[in-house]
Amino acid sequence: MPANPTTRDVQIDRSMASSGITLEPGIPICQTDLPLDWYQREFKSYAEEYLALPDRTPETVLPWMDSYIVPAMKHFDGRIMLLAHFYMGGEIVKLVERYGGQISDSYALARQAELHPEIDVFVESAVHFMAETIALLKHPHQEVWITNPKSGCTMETMATEAMLLPAFESLHERYGEDLLVVAYMNTSGRVKALAGRTGGSVCTSSNAHHVMQWAREQNKKVFFVPDQHLGENSGRQVGISPEKMFTWPGGWAGSRVSIDAMDAAERSRLDDAELVLWGSWCGVHTVFEPRHVEWWRAKGFRVLVHPECTHEVVKVADGSGSTNYLWGELMSAEPGAKFAVGTEAHFVENARQQLAARGVEVVNLADVTDPEFPSMGCGCATMSRNDPPHLVATLDLLRQGRAPEINRVESGDVVEADTGWRERLSASEQEQISQDARSALLKMIELTEAAR
Ligand code: SF4
Repeated sequence: MPANPTTRDVQIDRSMASSGITLEPGIPICQTDLPLDWYQREFKSYAEEYLALPDRTPETVLPWMDSYIVPAMKHFDGRIMLLAHFYMGGEIVKLVERYGGQISDSYALARQAELHPEIDVFVESAVHFMAETIALLKHPHQEVWITNPKSGCTMETMATEAMLLPAFESLHERYGEDLLVVAYMNTSGRVKALAGRTGGSVCTSSNAHHVMQWAREQNKKVFFVPDQHLGENSGRQVGISPEKMFTWPGGWAGSRVSIDAMDAAERSRLDDAELVLWGSWCGVHTVFEPRHVEWWRAKGFRVLVHPECTHEVVKVADGSGSTNYLWGELMSAEPGAKFAVGTEAHFVENARQQLAARGVEVVNLADVTDPEFPSMGCGCATMSRNDPPHLVATLDLLRQGRAPEINRVESGDVVEADTGWRERLSASEQEQISQDARSALLKMIELTEAAR
């Protein structure tokens, strides 16, 4: 396997780093190794080399990574961009940033191909829907690759096209042109395309209230998919009362609901609803409870939460907002400040490590030691499937022109989470999905930029 240690001293700084997270000497880079059989066949030899390294300190891991990644970056000579989301484990965030990559939230990540036509190749260390969104907005000459195709979002898997389509068709049959779909970023391209077909929009947690406000002004029945809590929180934010919301079951249960089979009272509630919420949720964000908020606040902590938390938690927190909002609030804190944060655990850990040296205390909102209700926050297991061997193998095989096709991301791909195998549409079907999903994405961009 080619490795070129002579290039290890090359410094890559493309001034795109956005998190400010730094690698410290002696602090382990990756605390948890994945078992060898979790890697796809083409990546196994890289994983074996990594697993055989004597330790996980930067002094050991970085020279090994540099020996592959620096030649790959030189090979692409400024035509490649590495991307990762804030929620990824601290290790991969730091590593992507080390090689000049960009760390941000899903809105900023989605726009990178569109905003950087000079880049030919995007390599994403995050979950599939984020990579697919970049592919939906990319220029024709650009390619999008994901370091681990098995890295997905469990909320998205509770709202696949197959689950949603019967509900969509049933609602469309009853309400026709009066139905408007708003799809959260955490959906496949096929689901975003449904939003586009109704003249609707995509949204992220940072712009959901702007998009919801716009949707409300269209005087249509809004079908929000897939996160019922984000839908409810942003609906309430723009003045939709809970009586005007109707929760449609999520997952396969939702595909079996028939409006005709509803009793008259339920059908009348649906007819009266301004906002229909698909009933999925994120397991990571629904562990938080109002009593966690009270517990930490009593200890002098300011409580910040993500709007994928339940409304009961959001309404008692001191602040609520997207990943970028949370990161911004934390990074601008004065020494001595104390925060309990209700979101994904890797994000909270990244912030905790980053701010400890500045005298700012950050804890996970669910890390409560009270014997009455002991609990612990959790990280997103599916997102954490990206690690140094995945990044190294993808970049080295791309340099050699041998990257596996299952790591290439195209519009409309449906990925099998256990194997990474992807069902790919024909070129004309891809074009149709792209057109519809792009119109919903461009609507979101228009609304977000107008609100700045
Ligand atoms: S944290 Fe929740 S919403 Fe985000 S990718 Fe993981 S499962 Fe999906």
